[in-house]
Amino acid sequence: MTNTSSRGGAGYRLLLYIAIGFVLGIIIGWIVSMAPPGVKGPVSDWFKAFGDIFVRLIRIVIPPLIFFTIAAATASIANARRLGKILALMLFLYIITTLIATIWGTIAATALAPGVGLNLTSTQQPPTPPSGTDILLSFFQPDFSNLLVVGGAMTMIIFAIILGLAVVFLGDEGRKVANILSLGSKTMIGFVRIIMYYAPVAVFMYAAWLMIKYGPQMLGAYAKFLGGQYLFTLLHFFLIYSIIVWLGGLSPIKYFKAQIYPFLIAFTTRSSAATLPANMEAARRMGVPEEVFGVTLPIGATVNMDGTALYQVMSAIFVAQLFNIPLTPYHYGLIILAAIVGSIATAAIPGGGTIMLAYVLAVAGLPLEGVGIMLVIDPLADAIRTAINVSGDNACTVLITKFLGYKLTS
Ligand code: ASP
Repeated sequence: MTNTSSRGGAGYRLLLYIAIGFVLGIIIGWIVSMAPPGVKGPVSDWFKAFGDIFVRLIRIVIPPLIFFTIAAATASIANARRLGKILALMLFLYIITTLIATIWGTIAATALAPGVGLNLTSTQQPPTPPSGTDILLSFFQPDFSNLLVVGGAMTMIIFAIILGLAVVFLGDEGRKVANILSLGSKTMIGFVRIIMYYAPVAVFMYAAWLMIKYGPQMLGAYAKFLGGQYLFTLLHFFLIYSIIVWLGGLSPIKYFKAQIYPFLIAFTTRSSAATLPANMEAARRMGVPEEVFGVTLPIGATVNMDGTALYQVMSAIFVAQLFNIPLTPYHYGLIILAAIVGSIATAAIPGGGTIMLAYVLAVAGLPLEGVGIMLVIDPLADAIRTAINVSGDNACTVLITKFLGYKLTS
């Protein structure tokens, strides 16, 4: 990549503006939250709309960004066996870290018992879970047009990998195509950088909106749930990712420093897909070669969601507690397994994890009203889980870099 050093300063300035936007948003949102409902309702809608502009702009760029970055990275790995090694290592690490996250979720929900004592009653029949074949086929969209939406990202990834491989198989003849893909990848990243200038405004708008809507209401069971979720999610972030990057030969301090920027973007946009460019920038700062993060981060944004898995396990157990439904060890196993699959299938967009919570509840035979109950606090629960989703991708990327024998160049 070109001109990294001069961009470094601009990157940190942007980070500072984002942090300022975040703090100002909280303060303004808190002030507006004291206004009468007729005033604060419309005001908060406007704040949210201006925040949504950012997420929408980013969502537009996601399909071409994923296509060019993955296809270019695949085509640049002249050796197909090396690519296979990256993919195998990546999937292994992603699944192990997600499993650890689900265990944290189980401990948090059982130890804190946020839903115990409320005795809600369900009016719905336990839902029918989506079949294994439904889930499998959701990874392979039926038409090319389905690849052009964020929900088709998994299929776009598969498409880009196969296309990159086809370029590798062309040998010398494929060089020109590989160059075009690489230029396309740089252009898309440049496109995103332009949009990023709007990020501080978007962060301000979202922070204000969150504050108006949920700030004063963090009470009772919800507060306990969120407190537990934040605590254990941050524990996963600081403990597990420190260990992983340390094993990868990087000082955890350097990792956390580089990760602040994507963390804040993820926390406020609540979209792993929207944070992908910021996460790539952080990987570059940590000295990870583009050949590695060009593959691991776009795929990780879609399939590796530790924060979401932790949240889905916690939510399912919370819902069982609210409705006074006893859980056996078999149920816990089922919930953990469903959350691993559910987090992989979750779209990297705001609220994606709560939509897939329906799947986890269905598998465990728990009332689907749980989804509505969790939706109330979703913006707050989503913020931290998305921040950890993207941070996990980068931590694993550092370790994969080491396993592959590359040197970090920071
Ligand atoms: N918003 C999350 C993400 O984009 C997904 C979720 O809702 O859990 O990573």
